[in-house]
Amino acid sequence: MDTQMLIGSKFEKGTETEEPILNPKTGATILNLPEASQAQIEAAVTAAEQAFVLWSRTTPAQRSGYLLKIADRIEADAKEFATLEALNCGKPINAVLNDEIPAIVDCYRFFAGAVRSMPGVVAGEYLPGHTSMVRRDPIGIVASIAPWNYPLMMMAWKLAPAIAGGNTVVFKPSEQTPLTALKLAKILADILPVGVVNVVLGRGDSVGNTLINHPKVNMISITGDVATGKKVLQAAAKSVKRTHLELGGKAPVIVFDDADLGAVVNGLRAFGYYNAGQDCTAACRIYAGRKIYDKLVADLSSAVSTIKYNRPDDTENEIGPLISRRQRDRVSSFVERASELKHIEITTGGKPGEGSGFYYQPTVVAGALQEDEIVRREVFGPVVSVTRFSEVDDAVNWANDSDYGLASSVWTKDVSRAMATAARLQYGCTWINTHFMLTNEMPHGGLKQSGYGKDMSLYALEDYTAVRHVMVAHS
Ligand code: NAD
Repeated sequence: MDTQMLIGSKFEKGTETEEPILNPKTGATILNLPEASQAQIEAAVTAAEQAFVLWSRTTPAQRSGYLLKIADRIEADAKEFATLEALNCGKPINAVLNDEIPAIVDCYRFFAGAVRSMPGVVAGEYLPGHTSMVRRDPIGIVASIAPWNYPLMMMAWKLAPAIAGGNTVVFKPSEQTPLTALKLAKILADILPVGVVNVVLGRGDSVGNTLINHPKVNMISITGDVATGKKVLQAAAKSVKRTHLELGGKAPVIVFDDADLGAVVNGLRAFGYYNAGQDCTAACRIYAGRKIYDKLVADLSSAVSTIKYNRPDDTENEIGPLISRRQRDRVSSFVERASELKHIEITTGGKPGEGSGFYYQPTVVAGALQEDEIVRREVFGPVVSVTRFSEVDDAVNWANDSDYGLASSVWTKDVSRAMATAARLQYGCTWINTHFMLTNEMPHGGLKQSGYGKDMSLYALEDYTAVRHVMVAHS
């Protein structure tokens, strides 16, 4: 197992406080990893600064070549990466191997192609006697900070567009899930010029805080909690750094009475509980039409009660445990408070799983009302609430009545109603008759307190590059 950080050309251990890295399936400690010292963070930023001089002058085709090599190496090591991610996050091995790794490999390949064909305004004589052109240039050193729910995928979403755009990076994985980042660091050191990507370990309030406040860091890219995003903005304000924020979500799902109930139930069983609901787009806040509500609650509850987890043969598992005891207890307390309300019924689940792992039973909370905490706050666990609506306007207004604005979906057989409803939703993404599906060509990112950075797609390349105007006078 790789345990050392990548700083310039060197692999070194951190020298500060040790963080226990846990196996969420058992609660056992896998190993302890010390975090980076201030001097090590400084060295990583200096390495990125030095690498920027040459890296920023490479051609798109050269950078594309590097990205393609990274993709090939991840693909070749798919099993090892999947095993490590499954160990550190508790994810079912098949979910990592079959869902995550192909999407990660494709992310590097997408940006390898995209950087060679960036669109823009046509150069020309917009003032007589002067030729104008638009450039897109790298921003500089990017501090990239990732969460624990999809460690290797979030690393891909952050690294691929940043280095494709000609930037250099100091990357900090979540202190809870650094193992795949350390393995990838070895590969990156083989492929990339020294200092283009550096990987440092540590907690948010120590190492993360130093990075976001570092005067030489030009851009901060973070995926995490809204509260963390606000701290990033405060730090960025001091030197007006560019920020790329991907924060939480609480996705509304509007199910009209004419929806295909079987498809809705299958969809919610999959997309409400994938990754044990630790997903910022999870289909967790259902608004069901008056006529479909009872059957939806009954069918969904019985479908959810069949979700397989905590089986000794991991290839049978559909979901894993939560990432930590703290997260499991947090989810548990949300459901306990909800169950104390008279109008609420827990129709399946509602308890922590058995054993020493951080499991929580897949849960349906029926009869929830718009003002309930379970409807308003991000639970980030295998818990879906269902609320009944009679009027379309209520469903749309309740869906929009949220601090978050990341993802949403609408389920109906009526295409006009689907389009009209989608147009009114204030979310970065609206799916129709599905949920959760992402593709590297399309942007992922939010509105409101879900942040504004776009991951994947050409829009991410735009986020990680600066627009510049160059004008030439003819005489
Ligand atoms: P978190 O905000 O606690 O941590 C995210 C990262 O930020 C970690 O690496 C952490 O060490 C770092 N961090 C924390 N405090 C910091 C500080 N003061 N300065 C600098 N860095 C700091 O979030 P988490 O618990 O790891 O992840 C779960 C959250 O991430 C959820 O709210 C979820 O919705 C969100 N998320 C959003 C997306 C998206 O695309 N919008 C994707 C995945 C997760």
